[in-house]
Amino acid sequence: MKLNGNALLAEEKLKSFNHHVVAQNPLRLDAFDKDEDLKIELITEKFNDIIEILGFDLTNDSIKDTPYRVARMYVNEIFKGLNPQNKPKITVFENTYGYHTPLVELNIPFTSFCEHHFVPIQGKVNITYIPKDYVIGLSKIHRLVDFYARRPQVQERLTMQIIQELSATLDPKDIGVALKANHSCISCRGVEDLGSSTVTSVFQGQIKNDSNLISVLLGSNCA
Ligand SMILES: [Zn+2]
Repeated sequence: MKLNGNALLAEEKLKSFNHHVVAQNPLRLDAFDKDEDLKIELITEKFNDIIEILGFDLTNDSIKDTPYRVARMYVNEIFKGLNPQNKPKITVFENTYGYHTPLVELNIPFTSFCEHHFVPIQGKVNITYIPKDYVIGLSKIHRLVDFYARRPQVQERLTMQIIQELSATLDPKDIGVALKANHSCISCRGVEDLGSSTVTSVFQGQIKNDSNLISVLLGSNCA
């Protein structure tokens, strides 16, 4: 397919959005053509329609600002990870101390939203990696998780995005990522199963063969 100038620009933007991450969210090429203020304005209008169709009185004091509140929440909070400008800057430090054993970061909380139902997926992530030449600032791991979580997602893709981003940033071969989460689309609707949780995990390099470490990552602490 031949792309015109605008489409090429959009493709560049999408590339920078996904950076070197392989798993991609199903966005259109024009996903970032509208600025955030316009997105809030348009979502407010659409949400107004939804509330109206549901039969609510939009002049009611409690409900009248709900469309705007929802629109701001979508754009500025729960889906802020869609905006490439919100990607955290990843600082790495030279591994001058020669630390080459697993670093384990446990119970990193996240809130994402199921892209099939637009309701919350909430859980925790456990991450390990064996540093090579660089180590990553610990809070950056938390920020990365948050960035990829704050979009309409599926848990499997979120898991892959986290490990692929770490892999590309740190260039280590040895990484493990495990997510345990509760899906509101399972608990609040459909089968209404309140007690269940979903675990996804991926282990690379030496971590694959370290059953103790895998037990820690998949352990009951996870959520
Ligand atoms: Zn769902």
